[in-house]
Amino acid sequence: MVNAFVNAVVPFVLPSPSEIAHVLRILGMEPSDVRCAYCGDKATESDHLYPLVREGSPTGYITSIRNLVPACGKCNQSKGGRPWKEWMQGTARLSPRSRGIPDVEARIARLEAYEEWAQPVPIPLDTLADAELWERYTSLRQQLLTSMSEAQILANTIRGQVLSRWVRPNDGRYEIDRASDNPRVDLIRYLQTAGLSAVDKRTQGGRLWVEGDEQLRPTLDALSRYGIDFHFAPAGGSAIGGRPGWWTAWTDT
Ligand SMILES: [Zn+2]
Repeated sequence: MVNAFVNAVVPFVLPSPSEIAHVLRILGMEPSDVRCAYCGDKATESDHLYPLVREGSPTGYITSIRNLVPACGKCNQSKGGRPWKEWMQGTARLSPRSRGIPDVEARIARLEAYEEWAQPVPIPLDTLADAELWERYTSLRQQLLTSMSEAQILANTIRGQVLSRWVRPNDGRYEIDRASDNPRVDLIRYLQTAGLSAVDKRTQGGRLWVEGDEQLRPTLDALSRYGIDFHFAPAGGSAIGGRPGWWTAWTDT
């Protein structure tokens, strides 16, 4: 959320076709078969080699072909805001080294050649726009974040009241017995009834994941009346192999 506010002010520069062709050449890729620059899997997105945001503030790096390389979801998610080279050689979860990618050093060399060409340098965003505009933007952002937290708390309270006061008919399909000794089993049963399988990491301090796309929304939204909120993660989670999915941290215990 905070990142969205930063991303919104970061300029983007559209690449020319010849720049795209040039970058692919440097990275040793065919335009018809673009691969993740870090690991060689099929590319599904672009990654900012230098992150746009660090600790909630703009780094000054922008969205431009001089700071974007093709990537896969796994790498993009694993790298996060880390320095790219250390991350590639490091042992972070799903990093190229951790995944045993055989040609990591060759990939690093190509990315260094790319960097040599791109010369990405941060630009002084804060001095290039009026201070007064920055101040208003920062204060609006703070107000919005505060309002959103308040709205979330109110929504939870309202949902709790509705749930506790609502005498609901048993529709015979997905009955979740909240008086049951083990409601977690009932959530799993609901998912099974709906033909879904879950990866449940909640007992290890993680989340419960259900692999799937936007089409699962109605099925999972129906659980919100029981206070169980699922959130969509288009970039997936490591629990489900980086594929798109839904997660909940809901637990009744
Ligand atoms: Zn990758």
